[in-house]
Amino acid sequence: MLKLKDHRLTGTGVSQQPTPNTGGALRPRFLILHYTAGRDLESSVRSLNTRKPQGNASAHVVIGRDGRIVQLAPFSVQTWHAGVSQWNGINGLNAHAIGIELDNAGRLHQEGDRFVAWFGKAYPPREVVQAAHPHGGGPQPWHAYSEVQIARTLELCELLVAQYGLQDVLGHEDVARGRKTDPGPAFPLTAVRARALGRGMDADPRWVVTASRLNIRSGPAASFDTLGPALPKGTELIRLEAQDRWSHVEVVGGTDREGWVSNDFIAPAPRPRSAGETVLPRSQRSTSAARARSRAAPVQPAKRPVSRRKATSIQLPPKSATRRTASKSAAG
Ligand SMILES: [Zn+2]
Repeated sequence: MLKLKDHRLTGTGVSQQPTPNTGGALRPRFLILHYTAGRDLESSVRSLNTRKPQGNASAHVVIGRDGRIVQLAPFSVQTWHAGVSQWNGINGLNAHAIGIELDNAGRLHQEGDRFVAWFGKAYPPREVVQAAHPHGGGPQPWHAYSEVQIARTLELCELLVAQYGLQDVLGHEDVARGRKTDPGPAFPLTAVRARALGRGMDADPRWVVTASRLNIRSGPAASFDTLGPALPKGTELIRLEAQDRWSHVEVVGGTDREGWVSNDFIAPAPRPRSAGETVLPRSQRSTSAARARSRAAPVQPAKRPVSRRKATSIQLPPKSATRRTASKSAAG
């Protein structure tokens, strides 16, 4: 079982290999997941531990395909994993986030019946996931994550969220949209995020409105039309998609209301589980990880929730309609 002492992990399969690539003090608020796009655990650790000017990146932890965890820096100092990034109006996530790298070759390309990484190594079809990245590009081959790697990642995420009271578990692709594609569609990020934030594997991630009245709009900006009356404080929402400043949500209660709200005026709903249940037995964990894994089964088109597809096809309304319906009386 993983444990934390002085911002360092202990437990079976954990080792410390300090990187020189660290910054100032860190009080983490987020956790950002990455793939290494590397050949194996050792080569990725070597590269992340290479001092400037040859090296220019680091992270707190690298998780191998066999579940080994190498910690490169304590969680109390900054590492260099996010680069130019933003989330919820915060720029430069390295100053606010723990970085976890997963040993994975990333996006592959097909040569005949072989799937080849950018560094030339070929992977068999059983290690390949055919999936479209939610940011576009159509179905492509991606290196699959191993089950034990996903289970270890989940265990670590749960520990870190609980220890540091983290607000969210994000992908590099979320905070560097258009620039980064990791951890990519082969990783069950939605399921891991929901589980790590304590809202249960099968439950939808619930949020609540914190403003007294919150506008719900047809797109992710204040220029989009409002959709019906503003949502009163305490309204429960299911977050379907999170963007930098806006979230695509469904209003709980069977009304079928769905739209975009500003992240500034929503918060995670109180945890339904009691504190004593936070640490689950290993057997339950691996079951849920296996279920999480099944959402990205090898060489099958990845299924995306319908709502996510709808979100990408939202059209900007005509300017005149926008002005007429823009409301100043509610937040967002
Ligand atoms: Zn990354």
